[in-house]
Amino acid sequence: MNPERRLRAVMLDWAGTTVDHGSMAPVIALQALFARYEIVLPDQDVRRDMGLLKRDHIREILTLPEVRAKWLAFTGREPGEGDVASLFEEFIPLQKTILPQHSMLIEGAAETVARWQRRGLRVGSTTGYTREMLEPILAQAIAGGYRPDATVCPDEAGAGRPAPWMLMRNAQLLDVYPPSVCVKIGDTVSDVEEGINAGMWTIGVTRTGNLVGMDAAGLAQLPVEAKARKLKTAEEKLRHAGADFVAQSVVECDGILEQIDRRLRDGESPGSRK
Ligand SMILES: [Mg+2]
Repeated sequence: MNPERRLRAVMLDWAGTTVDHGSMAPVIALQALFARYEIVLPDQDVRRDMGLLKRDHIREILTLPEVRAKWLAFTGREPGEGDVASLFEEFIPLQKTILPQHSMLIEGAAETVARWQRRGLRVGSTTGYTREMLEPILAQAIAGGYRPDATVCPDEAGAGRPAPWMLMRNAQLLDVYPPSVCVKIGDTVSDVEEGINAGMWTIGVTRTGNLVGMDAAGLAQLPVEAKARKLKTAEEKLRHAGADFVAQSVVECDGILEQIDRRLRDGESPGSRK
């Protein structure tokens, strides 16, 4: 017999969703990496492909014409797959200091998730970080009261986003099925694509995420209209990617979770969305 159609699991992204308001850490770390080759990366160039496994992300950055040209000037050759591999190797020790420093819990995230867990929802998580990179961030999150029931990294699932394998592995670890009783919450286009590819509901988050791209203090100083504009642009991008819902942060998802639960009981599934 099929299990009862109720919302049973929430799959959460890390940077920009539960930790690291504005997804600042990967930007700072990747900018520091490319600076070693005299390449100054503007924020928007780093943020364009955020959410991918960092090795894939480095490969995407190297395809930017500006970056290609500067790489050629510095090294005397076109960037190739060997450069992707060596840059990724170089990135690992670099991020070990930078990532944890910028991966503080997003305000209210720990309390919100703990409340969901007390209500019986299982909580999984996926990321663009490898296990080695996530380890200190996870330890820090647990110390702060955020403890997902499962955590899967791209290096453990065969591929990163937009492939659905990390989400599938979470579902298996949590013993939750079918995918339609799960919702994926994340702050990037690749998060939304990952959720859709897994057959799960999707919620895109704006205010705390990569598409707004500002830490809490910076955002608080922004004039009201500028802030509203940034939120609107982020929302449009996430909806365009196919997000079922958009919220400003993980803390503001309670009403959406209730709505999904109701729609599941009414026989709807993410596959039947228009
Ligand atoms: Mg993220």
